[in-house]
Amino acid sequence: MSIKQNINSIISLIPKEVKLVAISKTKPCEAIMEAYDTGQRIFGENRHKELIEKFDTLPKDIKWHFIGSLQRTNVKYVVPRVELIHSVDSHNLLKEIDKEAAKNSKVMDVLLELHIAQEMSKSGWDRATLIEYLKSGAHSELKNVRIVGVMSMASYTYDTEQIRAEFRELKQIFDSIKEQFFADSDYFNTISAGMSGDYEIAIEEGSNMVRIGSTIFNA
Ligand SMILES: *Cc1c(COP(=O)(O)O)cnc(C)c1O
Repeated sequence: MSIKQNINSIISLIPKEVKLVAISKTKPCEAIMEAYDTGQRIFGENRHKELIEKFDTLPKDIKWHFIGSLQRTNVKYVVPRVELIHSVDSHNLLKEIDKEAAKNSKVMDVLLELHIAQEMSKSGWDRATLIEYLKSGAHSELKNVRIVGVMSMASYTYDTEQIRAEFRELKQIFDSIKEQFFADSDYFNTISAGMSGDYEIAIEEGSNMVRIGSTIFNA
């Protein structure tokens, strides 16, 4: 199937309140343009150099999302170019994003990455550490970042019940953080979860933003 057909079939499968981020990392600009021509505008990249190249080359109405692990030294390249950073896993990174956003006179929307998978290799906060951090109030001193939700990746496994349990846990953490720290913040509303192999389960368990690469670009 073509990229166009892939996108249309995903759009027809997901509820309309779920946002589709087309993960275009490692894909050439021509492939991205094929997706763009279907009306897709949100694309996700995980390396700052590739983001810069594509940002400079491709249409300006694309909304770029950063989904990869981010070094503090590279924050300055990412902040001016993206609508949302999915993968924030420390206070130091938040502080750096805040500083660069201030320089750019913008408020940077970010998601807090949670570690819900069994694999140690995955990054992100665990539930207890994140709640301790939010209780400290340190995040609310950062005026140029806005925490709009959470992001995570499930374990890489064929055990769909395991995957489902992990996404369910993510939703519980989201609900609990929302109630405790963001009750009056309508903007805290995003659960970024689900990739090519597991997005249907993620949506059933509460995700409202899916990050899909290989199913779109036939990788
Ligand atoms: C690559 C990537 C995706 C997309 O994965 P596919 O399996 O290709 O859909 C989603 N999220 C993150 C963080 C990724 O790095």
